[in-house]
Amino acid sequence: MKKELIYSFLLIFIPASLLFSAIFYAFSNQTRKYELQTIQIREEAALKSATELTSILFEQKLSDLMVLAEGETLRKFLHKENMLNWIHVTREFSLFARRKPKYAQIRFIDTEGMELVRINNKAGDPEIVPKTELQDKNSNYYFQESIKLNQGDIYISPLDLNMENGVVEQPIVPTIRFSTPVHDGYGKKRGILIINYTPAELLDRIEDIFKTLIGDTIMLNSDGYWLMGSTEDKLWGFMYGSEETFAKDHPEVWAAIAYSDRGSVSTDTGLYIFQRAYPLNRASLGTAENIQMTPDAGEHMEQDPYWVYVSHISKTLIDDLSAKRVIISSITYLLLFIVTGLISGMFAKNAAQKKLAFLKLQQHATTDELTGIANRRELHKAGENEFKRAFRFNRDYSILMIDLDHFKVINDSHGHTIGDEVLKHIANLCLDITRTEDLLARYGGEEFVMLLPETNIDGAKQLAERICQDVRDNPFDSTDGPIAITVSIGISEIGPADSIYTDILLRADKALYQAKRDGRDRVVAIYAKPTQ
Ligand code: GH3
Ligand code: MG
Ligand code: MG
Repeated sequence: MKKELIYSFLLIFIPASLLFSAIFYAFSNQTRKYELQTIQIREEAALKSATELTSILFEQKLSDLMVLAEGETLRKFLHKENMLNWIHVTREFSLFARRKPKYAQIRFIDTEGMELVRINNKAGDPEIVPKTELQDKNSNYYFQESIKLNQGDIYISPLDLNMENGVVEQPIVPTIRFSTPVHDGYGKKRGILIINYTPAELLDRIEDIFKTLIGDTIMLNSDGYWLMGSTEDKLWGFMYGSEETFAKDHPEVWAAIAYSDRGSVSTDTGLYIFQRAYPLNRASLGTAENIQMTPDAGEHMEQDPYWVYVSHISKTLIDDLSAKRVIISSITYLLLFIVTGLISGMFAKNAAQKKLAFLKLQQHATTDELTGIANRRELHKAGENEFKRAFRFNRDYSILMIDLDHFKVINDSHGHTIGDEVLKHIANLCLDITRTEDLLARYGGEEFVMLLPETNIDGAKQLAERICQDVRDNPFDSTDGPIAITVSIGISEIGPADSIYTDILLRADKALYQAKRDGRDRVVAIYAKPTQ
């Protein structure tokens, strides 16, 4: 029963748990992908909003620049560069600066690179720089870039730190310069108007967006230097002649950034999601008034400076996420496993019981309950099968009929229970002698039949004698003491005139009767008649 139960259990449990495992594996794999994807989408969306913010905030500054550059006061000054007109221009610029505290400088520089008007603006407190302190900016990159431009074009410098007298101003002042060429009433280029803008507000807002992200977020310039999100010593490295850049630290990531505006890269250290931001968004500037666009507006140009916002989701963070998932998965899996086990157990118990009941029924139909050997029904079936085979192939086939002598007396003197034990004892003695191809059956009461395929009557006689001897030599050890038993055995073999197995059996029965009459405890054989 136990063996049967384990077998049925495994038969159900192994395929069921394998199936569940496969489904579970596929499912949790899918969840993992989905989780990472969700994070990635969220990070991308946040980076995108930082990018959009960048262009919106700059649009306004560019309109301001154009208003000043095309203003009447400046034009008058260009027409007649006298003291009075200079004062008018400086006054207009400083009024403007008072309203725009983030404009750190407003300057007009002539075509030779010489500052003609300069307002320094310390958070809404403008200061007009006297003519004697104006500087030559001819060699500055932003001057050289701007003076080349056509009317209406705009130059936006890279974001860097303001320098005062050749050194970086402390505390640092991140600065962007917007400039545009200025033309006089005759359409002649006379210089550039340049506004220094401190994008503190923008940087703060980008930093706020960064705080909402899961990953570690950084801002880089187009050369791969850190502008935000790294340690103090790494930020603005290009201002101090440092060679250390993100681009050098993470060449794989940088290669992807250099290749496209947005995307993601997976490396040994985790997942990097990036998005470039163009301060000069030509497409959106197209809607601003007064700004004349270059023909390829809307397209970023090769030399346009950009910033990159990068969100780094570290391997540890990904592992942490998956560790959490693994724990939840494992618990779910364990529960599933237990439930599968329980259900399999229930099914197995049911199946085992059914199978056992069936086996019992089958056994009941073919075996004798007392001795455990074949019953009469089984004997007839086997006897007939063996007969057909022997008949067809002309093989030897003998049958023994064994009957206990004076069994009635044993029953009468020792009781029916001991009588039963004696029957079992004799059955076992006979079984010990049978070969595998022989069949021992209980024919009825205290009579047994033995089918001996491939055995002729002489062989059968020898075997019968041995049985007689064994029974004689082995009295039954009862509670009443040893009980001597003898058996009589009748034998016959297949004959040419036989048409059914009972023909042999009948002769064996006759022989048995003869043995009884001759005095019991003996073997009598009756040969089959030769062909009629
Ligand atoms: P004989 O030597 O002529 O065969 O004498 P016998 O007493 O063995 O033969 P008889 O046919 O007169 O008696 C057979 C007895 O076997 C009668 C019956 O009570 C007994 N018997 C038959 N089946 C069983 C059984 O299953 N258990 C027990 N204990 N006795 C049985
Ligand atoms: Mg009898
Ligand atoms: Mg008898």
